[in-house]
Parts: sequence; C-alpha cells; structure tokens
Amino acid sequence: MNFHQPAASLHGLLCPKCQSPDLRTLETRPTASGVKRRRQCETCGHRFTTVEKVRDDR
Ligand SMILES: [Zn+2]
Repeated sequence: MNFHQPAASLHGLLCPKCQSPDLRTLETRPTASGVKRRRQCETCGHRFTTVEKVRDDR
C-alpha cells in the first residue's frame, strides 16, 4: 500500500486537476438527483462540481 493521502481517502475526494485533498466548498444545493456541491481546490484554484447521490437501499 502506498497511499499518502489519508484525509482524502476518508472523503474519497481529490482535486481532478492536481489531486490535492485541500478542497473548499463554495456552494451546496439540493437537487432532484442529489446534493450538488461546487468546490474549489485550495492548492491550484480549480473549480468543479460534485453530485452526492442518495440511494434508497430498501
Ligand atoms: Zn487542484
């Protein structure tokens, strides 16, 4: 095992550009398909959006 980013693996989220785990949430918005979050990387300034989907396990 050669993972050196334990904090990121906890959340499973890294900057898609520079793989930094230092992300800032700019906006959280619930939508029909899940929770949309706009994020910005603290390291390189790259902005991107994630969608958190809710699954009904029944
Ligand atoms: Zn970045």
